[in-house]
Amino acid sequence: MTVLTAEATIPTAAGSAYVAAVCERLLKAEFAANADSASGRIELRDGLGIGTLEALSGRLRMKAEAPTEQGLSILKFLLSMHVEEVAAAEKPDVVWTGDGCGLEVLPSFREMTVLRVADVTPHVRRITLTGHDLKRFESDSVHVRLLFPPEGLAIPEWPKPGKNGRPVWPPEDRKPAQRVYTIRRIDAASAEMDIDFVMHEVPGIASGWAARAKAGTIVGLLGPGGREMTSNDWVLLAGDETAIPAMARILEKLPATTRGVALIEAEDAREVQELAHPAGVEVRWLFRSGEEPGRNTLLADAVMAVRWPADGSSYAWLGAEEATARRLRAYWRDEMGLEKGRWQAVSYWTHAANAGEKSAA
Ligand SMILES: Cc1cc2nc3c(=O)[nH]c(=O)nc-3n(C[C@H](O)[C@H](O)[C@H](O)COP(=O)(O)OP(=O)(O)OC[C@H]3O[C@@H](n4cnc5c(N)ncnc54)[C@H](O)[C@@H]3O)c2cc1C
Repeated sequence: MTVLTAEATIPTAAGSAYVAAVCERLLKAEFAANADSASGRIELRDGLGIGTLEALSGRLRMKAEAPTEQGLSILKFLLSMHVEEVAAAEKPDVVWTGDGCGLEVLPSFREMTVLRVADVTPHVRRITLTGHDLKRFESDSVHVRLLFPPEGLAIPEWPKPGKNGRPVWPPEDRKPAQRVYTIRRIDAASAEMDIDFVMHEVPGIASGWAARAKAGTIVGLLGPGGREMTSNDWVLLAGDETAIPAMARILEKLPATTRGVALIEAEDAREVQELAHPAGVEVRWLFRSGEEPGRNTLLADAVMAVRWPADGSSYAWLGAEEATARRLRAYWRDEMGLEKGRWQAVSYWTHAANAGEKSAA
């Protein structure tokens, strides 16, 4: 197996302290599987790569080894970011040498072109994008960061690889806005992916772009990212319209023997979509029927009314508005006492009235 490698060294007398601090931070990072401060060994999940931090006399050496360009770039990014942050007072100048240096385009970036636009339901618009070399997006990491250049910019400008492994963004007036979306369907062989956009009442940059997009429109994309769900005997999935693509991807991949319930909040029966799911998972739609999205307790109440099985492994997942995510984090963690790793409640968007109340959890 080919192994791509890169190295960077910074002068410092505090190498050991930085190794410990970076490992502690990496234990919480999305892509990291393990980080051992004694050995300085950092393992990315899914065999993406191995990083090593070594405190030597008067310097800190970083090494990244990975089987793919994607793994190598994630490692370089994570190591540089955390080292630069923990050593901020020393203003370290991280410069990688080795594989992947001198690239013109970020391995995670694609410029995509709209192929088709179709309305799936009154509030969901499916945009089919095409781009080159989409193989890396055929993954259990289903999310991407869409990049929208400022309106009126004749030639879009995208982030480029920096010598420290972190992206260098265009100046503020030409910098693309970013929004996170889910790949609803990906077919790398046909160079196509579908993204479903919720067309909400107060349009933002992303939904406004989706409203105007037509064949030939350009958008940037970074990814993929996101954690896959582990296999369990029973699952509780819950989300609003923004999480339907993620729930659909999870449901269609669950082992056929999985049991559980998927609760989906939507405006009304016209928003119902056909979703593939194991026979033992009940898909239940909850209709707001005029109640404001993000300002009701329909989904949270339904989730809290679900009875969990007494035996077997179980897992709960939620993607919804910030207040619902916050409520269910508190419920699963504090009221039900579920340990970490048995639940995940992700804030997918924030209602203007709930902005500023984000919880740290
Ligand atoms: C991991 C992840 C995956 C996601 N996947 C998807 C996806 O596949 N499809 C999708 O549509 N969204 C998805 N989202 C949610 C999406 O990123 C947000 O809704 C985003 O705020 C939309 O950006 P915008 O520019 O349209 O609106 P913003 O500029 O963010 O907001 C403008 C206004 O619209 C309101 N608003 C934003 N979203 C909604 C909404 N859904 N309903 C009602 N009001 C809203 C805001 O409160 C604000 O007042 C995902 C989010 C995450 C974190």
